[in-house]
Amino acid sequence: MAARAQGRLAGADDLEAAIAALELRLPAPLRPLARVAHNYRWSWSDDGERLFAAIDPHRWHLAKHNPIRLLSEVAPALLERAAGEAAIVARAQALADALARELADAPALVGGEGTIAFFCAEVGLHRSLPLYSGGLGVLAGDLLKEASDRRTPMIGVSLMYRSGYFHQRVDRSGWQHEYWIDADPERSPAVLVSGADGRPLVVPVTIGEREVQLRVWRVDVGRVPLFLLDAEVPGNPPIDRWITARLYEGNRAIRLAQYVALGIGGVRLLRAIGVEPARIHLNEGHAALAALELAADEVAGGQSFAEAARAVAPRLCFTTHTPVPAGNETYAPGELLEALGDLPARLGLEPQELLDLGRLRPGDALSPAGMTPLAIRLSGAVNGVSRRHGEVARAMWQPLFPGRRADEVPIDHVTNGVHHPTWIAASFRALFDRHLGRAWRERPDDPASWAAVDAIPDGELWAARCAARTCLIDYVRERSVTDRLRRGEALDYVQAAERTLDHEVLTVGFARRLASYKRMRLLIHDPRRALALLRGPRPIQLLLAGKAHPLDEGAKGIVQTLFALKQAEAVAGRVVFLEDYNLSIAGSMVGGADLWINLPIPPQEASGTSGMKSALSGGLQLSVADGWWAEAHDGDNGWAIAADEEADPEARDARDAAALYDLLEREVVPAFYERDADGLPQRWLAMMRASIKSIAPRYSATRMLAEYRARIYRVGG
Ligand SMILES: *Cc1c(COP(=O)(O)O)cnc(C)c1O
Repeated sequence: MAARAQGRLAGADDLEAAIAALELRLPAPLRPLARVAHNYRWSWSDDGERLFAAIDPHRWHLAKHNPIRLLSEVAPALLERAAGEAAIVARAQALADALARELADAPALVGGEGTIAFFCAEVGLHRSLPLYSGGLGVLAGDLLKEASDRRTPMIGVSLMYRSGYFHQRVDRSGWQHEYWIDADPERSPAVLVSGADGRPLVVPVTIGEREVQLRVWRVDVGRVPLFLLDAEVPGNPPIDRWITARLYEGNRAIRLAQYVALGIGGVRLLRAIGVEPARIHLNEGHAALAALELAADEVAGGQSFAEAARAVAPRLCFTTHTPVPAGNETYAPGELLEALGDLPARLGLEPQELLDLGRLRPGDALSPAGMTPLAIRLSGAVNGVSRRHGEVARAMWQPLFPGRRADEVPIDHVTNGVHHPTWIAASFRALFDRHLGRAWRERPDDPASWAAVDAIPDGELWAARCAARTCLIDYVRERSVTDRLRRGEALDYVQAAERTLDHEVLTVGFARRLASYKRMRLLIHDPRRALALLRGPRPIQLLLAGKAHPLDEGAKGIVQTLFALKQAEAVAGRVVFLEDYNLSIAGSMVGGADLWINLPIPPQEASGTSGMKSALSGGLQLSVADGWWAEAHDGDNGWAIAADEEADPEARDARDAAALYDLLEREVVPAFYERDADGLPQRWLAMMRASIKSIAPRYSATRMLAEYRARIYRVGG
């Protein structure tokens, strides 16, 4: 029954046709892999990545870990060889069987009770589908995977950016350059969705005066289908095709057109494929126009706008993800009205009335308007992404609720969490399987599932940590050789990369989008103390990664300054900047680092999630007590820098940098290097246990999704 309902969903036949076409290329024993390759479920199975790599490691690398490309491009002789290996064939069958079992037990989505449509401008599932820029997209990907694991009826809606987010190349002087690569969805696990007439389904949206056609791709994420709207349609003029070219396009008019495509196009897509969701979850403001499209439907049925807004609010949830202005952009009245076309008329509103919905203070015809106020006003449930962020958001958006005090503003919080199977390092998965049984996989959000961490022998716990660190360092060595060759560095410096970093040294990770509020610069605020830590008898080694916004010269300057560190004597082997931060670099770094550092300017870090990922593999946190760490730090599970606000930025940075160096010198380094008679760091191990037990259950996507269901979606059981 359930499987049939899933089967009827738009794109199901297209998916079958794509699988059949790929099967034709494969020797019979490997045919089950065609189905596996067309569903991202493999990416969080223990054996998925390893199995595809085993078929042809070199081709897997060239194909950027895209299984469709691997299976289409691998030499026939290698396919035949793999087909002749009983172990590979058995593993392929096992993955296919596991997938079939899960899909047979999928919840009904077409008109299904309690279906959630999850709208987000970016989705980070895997490096082979580059539709994400950072934390927001990766969180969205984690939530879809979790919904699949927990049988939550959910459909994802986003855009198919033809060239995604930019790639980063750093030149010899340390300056960041950007470039874009065409994603080529035809060679990804996406299928173009056909309509009832067998031709590609098109969803029209009005942008300004023009009608733009959107095509629809479907990508399966376990039990959850993700639909991606795409303006690259033959009949659209070139400017309109560009709407879905790049994630966070720099041109404001095109960015607004993206919001129309996602919000309005998304609702029309659901209508076109016959899905009537119980809730639409607007994950960040980019999708907010969905609320107006729903309301326009009600207005077309004869209601006033006020009645329509009241009718649709219970169907809408909105999550705000950042208090930073760049994430809550506003637009001049003219810009917005130009993008919105006939929307005011369809809502029965004067243009100014519509703009007022997006204004902090309605009534001022000249003031700009944004998507966040619009989404807050129209959604029945609103939340921030950590306890602290909830408070910050209530104060920030209080003007939308005249007459209420900040603590009465109806904005709740659901603290972010991360998808365990995506992020736990292999050595820790094996360790947890040995000592925690099935509990940590089946009930990851239950603290009791993690209680047995205390009983893991010291030696085994430390061995898993060292294995994860070694794996990261080997990966970094290999990457840095090619990074340095590409930059045209001197050959002796290239060769030094092979010896760079040390398997035994305290390994510190700092990786994220290099927005200025994240303050990567604090690491070298006092160069003397920083160098002493890198060169000392008990040294640290530093792994850095992150992209600066193309227009953020300040952030690019920081990358350059950190880059220059390599010239300091005896430091070149202790600092590595990894180019082109993405999901797979993130996976290696959070898995391998002993210490994860986060230095946001309080209270601007809404949550942060990379530290949660690192904790799953025994990484300890040293972070400003902002975002998630404000509620997670308990004194035993890591280190916190006080998050006191301070008006003078220089004084604040000096204070926080001093606190950082103090903690590193006095606490972190001694805890890591003081060893007992067996060579084990007892203090460090005790903190690792406390960290895993307190963070793994509470900051899991399992707990996060359960809270969304209970308090935000409030549907079904
Ligand atoms: C987890 C993750 C982020 C978010 O990290 P923060 O700690 O929230 O800054 C960004 N990018 C990638 C690739 C990630 O995996």
